Amino acid sequence: MIFLLCISAVLASFNTQYVTDQLEIQQTNLNSSKSYLLSLIITQLPQNNYCLPLLQVIINNETHNDSLAYSIKANIQKVYFNSTDNITIKVSCNMLEYFQNQKNINKTMHFNLTMTEAKQHISQPCQFPHYGQNCSLSIQQIQKEFSVTILILNNTWFYAYTILDNDDYEIYVQNGESLFGISIISFNKENATRLPSFLQNLIVLDSYNNDENQISLPKTENSQESIYIIGLYNFNSTQIQEITITITASDKNEDFPIWATILLISIVIFGLLLFLIILCHYKRQYKKLTQIKPALDRKVLKKYMPPQKVDTKMSTDTCSVCLVQFELKEKYCKTPCNHYFHEQCLLDWTTKQANCPVCRQGLLENEINELMEVKNIRNRQVEELTIKEAIKQKDDPPSQTYRDLPFLQLSSSPFRSQCKIELDCSPQAEHSPQIIQFDGSPQNLTNRNLCFQSDGIVESQN
Ligand SMILES: [Zn+2]
Ligand SMILES: [Zn+2]
Repeated sequence: MIFLLCISAVLASFNTQYVTDQLEIQQTNLNSSKSYLLSLIITQLPQNNYCLPLLQVIINNETHNDSLAYSIKANIQKVYFNSTDNITIKVSCNMLEYFQNQKNINKTMHFNLTMTEAKQHISQPCQFPHYGQNCSLSIQQIQKEFSVTILILNNTWFYAYTILDNDDYEIYVQNGESLFGISIISFNKENATRLPSFLQNLIVLDSYNNDENQISLPKTENSQESIYIIGLYNFNSTQIQEITITITASDKNEDFPIWATILLISIVIFGLLLFLIILCHYKRQYKKLTQIKPALDRKVLKKYMPPQKVDTKMSTDTCSVCLVQFELKEKYCKTPCNHYFHEQCLLDWTTKQANCPVCRQGLLENEINELMEVKNIRNRQVEELTIKEAIKQKDDPPSQTYRDLPFLQLSSSPFRSQCKIELDCSPQAEHSPQIIQFDGSPQNLTNRNLCFQSDGIVESQN
């Protein structure tokens, strides 16, 4: 029993060297209760490196391969399997699409194929940015707007990632004279536990090309930020090669969109209008605040004290406000109380107070009217007096005239300021009565008493 088991174990294990470009072997009589590990170790890759070696294990028409083979190092590939007694092993070198047109490609590889019993391998899911077996490797981050030069081992993948916002970015790669493959995929770090395969998106960067290669990023549906994983493969089978990567925002020299232009112009116009409205409003407010209402209405000044041109007769007079002599061509105003001032002097004065600078006669319209009325009465009285004087002069000796009668001082005193006495002075009383006027002001008490006492005296109040 023990002997048989040993034989089956020997049959199921092998370690063979091959030099070929393609291999297919059937392996039967495996123990379906055991787990096995099949390893491919390439000791010499094809000379031109235009293909990628691949180990496949076909079990019941299902193909298994090392999902990490192209993520780490293509020359070591491992496939675990169990629960089967019959497998097909395939080793080939897959031509990259980029090199499809190349002719006479020698795909011959030198490799070891080993199969051993192994414990069931449970691959641990790795958390981004870790990867590889036992999650021992981690992906390097490339900051945007930076240039990074990376050294990559021969026939080896190198991984980097970058986190970009929603702007458009370009990746520039300078690989000098080395042949490189680059593959960029957008990556969802929540779902990803292992690196995705890069073979589908592989872009081969020409050797003998010193120019910068510009590579566009694949579009993502992520609106906020996206993680991109950049895989770089050094096709050189013998040497470390360097490659420089730069990630920059795309130039945005596009024409300014029309709607934005219109919006901008609208905002500017609206701003200007708003500014003008505010300016007008403040101007009006300022005017209101700064306007001083003059003490005397300008209309009253114009109506009762219109400005007149200084004439030669006035040239010796002075203005009582500024004490400067009037000059020809200047304008003056005359108050109802017969005082003369420069037009401007009176304007300035009446801004503060509504009276005459000399006699303090009120200059408000009602005060002026009152003064005019008084003047009129006085004029009438003077006229009457003149008539009476004429009569007196006729009848009496000149000494009896009223020439020296004091002028009526009219004021708003409570006293009667005048009275009339009708007298018939003729001997036969045949003439019409004569009217004599008295000054009844407090200063002329005699006349005043006479006014009060006389019987038959007709009093009149002004
Ligand atoms: Zn003056
Ligand atoms: Zn006056």
